[in-house]
Amino acid sequence: MFQQPTRSGWIEVISGVMFSGKSEELIRRVRRAVIARKQVQVFKSHLDARYAGLFSVSSHDGVTVEAEPVDSAEEIARRLRDGTEVVAVDEAQFLDDGIVDLANRLADQGVRVILAGTDVDFRGLPFGPMPTLMCIAEVVDKFQAICVVCGGPATRNQRLVNGRPALWDSPIIMVGGRESYEARCRHCHRVPRQDEDQTALL
Ligand code: ADP
Ligand code: ZN
Repeated sequence: MFQQPTRSGWIEVISGVMFSGKSEELIRRVRRAVIARKQVQVFKSHLDARYAGLFSVSSHDGVTVEAEPVDSAEEIARRLRDGTEVVAVDEAQFLDDGIVDLANRLADQGVRVILAGTDVDFRGLPFGPMPTLMCIAEVVDKFQAICVVCGGPATRNQRLVNGRPALWDSPIIMVGGRESYEARCRHCHRVPRQDEDQTALL
C-alpha cells in the first residue's frame, strides 16, 4: 500500500496491456491533481493519435489541462514550465531512454511524475523504457484487460495483421497491411514464427 511521502517528488507508473484502463487511470489522477489546484502538465507520445485534440482534463471550476504531443524526453524537458508540480506522460513506452533520467531528475526536484505505458510489446517482451521506469518508480500499478478470446485477465497485446496473428519477425510498422490489436491472456496470445503452421494459430 502506497504511503503518502512527507516530502514531495516521486514517480508513479501505470502499466498494463492495451485496453487495461491506463489512460482512464492517468486522466483520473490528473483530474484530481487539477482539483487540488496543482500546476499540471500532461504529455503524450506523438506516435499515438488516439487522443488527438481529445485529451483534455477539466476541473469543475474551469481549469483545463491539454495533453501536449511530444517526440522525445528532451522535448518534455524543453516544454516544462516553471512551477509545474505534476507531470503526467501517456504512452511512455514510445519514448526514448532519456525519460528515465528526466523522471528521476524531476522527482528529485519535488515533482510528482506519473507515467502510463504498455509494459509489453506485441511479442510479450519488455517495451522500450517501461521496465526501467517500473524499477525506478516509488509506485507501480499493473492493470489487466479482459482477454477477448477466453474472458480471463489479459496481459498480452495480440497484434493482428489482416486479421491474423502477426509473425514474430514482422516489422513494427506494416506497410500496406491492416493491423489491429486485441487484449489477450498468456494462453491465448499467438506470435507464430515464419515456419509455423498458421492455420492452427488463429
Ligand atoms: P489503455 O490506456 O490501457 O489502452 P483505456 O483507458 O484507453 O486503456 O481504455 C480502457 C477501456 O477500454 C475500458 O474501460 C473498456 O471500456 C474498454 N475496453 C475495450 N476492450 C477491452 C478489453 N478487452 N478489456 C478491457 N477493457 C476494454
Ligand atoms: Zn485468454
